[in-house]
Amino acid sequence: MLFEVEPARRLVGIAKLASESERLEAKSRVEYFEIAARSVLNRCRPGMPFTWTINPYRGCEFGCKYCYARYTHEFMERDVEEFENRIYAKAAVAEILKRELGRTDKREAIAIGTATDPYQPAERRFGRTRSMLEVFARERGWHVSITTKSDLIQRDIALLGEIARANVLDVNMTITTLDAELARMLEPRAPRPDLRLATVKKLAEAGICVGVFPNPILPLITDRERALDRLAKAAKDAGAQYFGGGVLFLMLAAQKVFFPFLRERFPHLVRRYEERYRRSPFLRGTYTDDLRVRVRKIRERYGLASAPVEYRPELWEDERQGELFPLD
Ligand code: SF4
Repeated sequence: MLFEVEPARRLVGIAKLASESERLEAKSRVEYFEIAARSVLNRCRPGMPFTWTINPYRGCEFGCKYCYARYTHEFMERDVEEFENRIYAKAAVAEILKRELGRTDKREAIAIGTATDPYQPAERRFGRTRSMLEVFARERGWHVSITTKSDLIQRDIALLGEIARANVLDVNMTITTLDAELARMLEPRAPRPDLRLATVKKLAEAGICVGVFPNPILPLITDRERALDRLAKAAKDAGAQYFGGGVLFLMLAAQKVFFPFLRERFPHLVRRYEERYRRSPFLRGTYTDDLRVRVRKIRERYGLASAPVEYRPELWEDERQGELFPLD
């Protein structure tokens, strides 16, 4: 026998679910699948400003070169490079969310879009994010944030307005750079920075609490004072209320895509990045401290907050009035 056939590996858990997923559709480079979801509210590690995360999809077509969420494809025994080409839409998310909210503490904040963009192109076809927002629109008292790079969120502005009347809702728009060419390199299939800024403006005009995050800030690529200053000013002009940024962290799964990209586009930076990220995916020390100060000063220059500004939704005020003057 010339070749020994390797016995098929027994897949378990999320890898098994992924292997059994039904294919929904295929575009030229991207395949879409439906995957069963056991739960949609996932508890995240302590120390984050939220307790629960929601990711309506697995994988993200925007394909950012630095994306840390590529590890989620490794959980499914898929290559990290497939993160932007094999997109899994989670099934029955609205029903599951409704059930899970019933046993969740309203004081615990919920973040939508921490490991995938909830408004990536798949959302236009499968509407999983919208179906969950419709659940929140019938609720009150929750703290919800949405993080995206997409102008598709404009489709849901009316729905977001409804949610914000009875819940605290913040939208975090990620804009790493205003340089469209650089953005295309770093985030090949994400909407242009000007479209994202225009979306910030639309959201702000609709009364939604919105902020801009230049995350992740890439050392020697997007970290220049002038570039961050221009971005903060543009964010402020568009109506953003907060602006905050942190330096790139580079897990092993992300390095598999980021370093080949760096070698091709920024070869002069490879050695320095390798030295800095060899020992840890997190950057610490003087550079990080200086960057934090730089971002804080820029933010203060434009009167921007560092995080979402807490507000009382309109319908909470009604409730308070009701408490003060009970009708018996
Ligand atoms: S938009 Fe976010 S989740 Fe999607 S590829 Fe980029 S960094 Fe990853």
